[in-house]
Amino acid sequence: MTPRMTAQRIDGKAFAAQLRERVGTIAAEFEQEAGRKAGLAVVLVGEDPASQVYVRSKGKATVAANMESFEHRLPEDASEADLLSLVERLNGDEAVDGILVQLPLPGHIDEQKVIAAISPDKDVDGFHVINAGRLSVGQSGFVPCTPLGCMMLLTDRLGDLSGLEAVVIGRSNIVGKPMAQLLLDANATVTIAHSRTRDLPAVVRRADIVVAAVGRAEMVKADWLKDGATVIDVGINRLPPEPGAQKGRLVGDVDFGGASEVAGAITPVPGGVGPMTIAVLLRNTLVAAHRNAGLDVPESL
Ligand code: NAP
Repeated sequence: MTPRMTAQRIDGKAFAAQLRERVGTIAAEFEQEAGRKAGLAVVLVGEDPASQVYVRSKGKATVAANMESFEHRLPEDASEADLLSLVERLNGDEAVDGILVQLPLPGHIDEQKVIAAISPDKDVDGFHVINAGRLSVGQSGFVPCTPLGCMMLLTDRLGDLSGLEAVVIGRSNIVGKPMAQLLLDANATVTIAHSRTRDLPAVVRRADIVVAAVGRAEMVKADWLKDGATVIDVGINRLPPEPGAQKGRLVGDVDFGGASEVAGAITPVPGGVGPMTIAVLLRNTLVAAHRNAGLDVPESL
């Protein structure tokens, strides 16, 4: 019998902590040079409990990284015009380097219209079509935080990705598509799989790198993976609670236990990609601050 491998665990939590520390140091240097702190404005519309938690933790992380956090809360029934005029005000505010509008927005507000209203140079989420376009033609702009975080973990683990086969499962604008673009820019041979892909297990089995961004609990099984593949699990799914428990366990899109016996390296859920998202948001904000202040962006960012 072939001996089973045990995949190396890619510790996104530790990597993210290091990135946040580096951002904090550079943010303090920025303050010295620019005579002001870098600033991130986060806008929350309504009372969605999960969004409130995200906004609170983004605010705390921003302050901990020596940057200024501006929190703007609008009521659930705020009009689209109210939100657009707030975004317009933040676009013109020199203390604000990055603007993040927490999604999802209430149904009566057109998300695309709001994203389009954010100045592309303050769009630290990288969702504006101008930034999607910049990524696609290889100009510097802002790249969505989650895929950029995945890319950092991949290059840290693998170094040069040239010529590697990468399969991205999922084609959303915020994860799958920018992820594929980043891998392509790094000279990987990229396949994007989605719900209409035929024989997904066979497609995934070709991959040296698998990025799963689907939103289906433990969908990717051990026997879909090539021996030694590097697996980045973006999915965050809550299982139904076990009897007696209040909340179900969080799992990714990959069957972590099984996959760990075949993969060379794998991100856990939680503690893998998740913590990278906020760390990259802080990094993007500090990049924006340097550009807005006319300063060179430090290479270590
Ligand atoms: P999304 O917009 O719902 O996109 C899901 C993608 O998966 C779609 O392209 C869909 O294909 C594809 N898909 C669905 N079922 C499939 C199947 N059976 N086989 C193959 N592909 C399938 O989701 P998202 O926003 O990209 O997020 C994906 C996951 O990542 C979610 O679990 C989300 O919670 C998580 N996430 C995590 C972070 C983080 O910080 N860690 C950040 C963002 C998202 P079609 O296009 O054909 O419908």
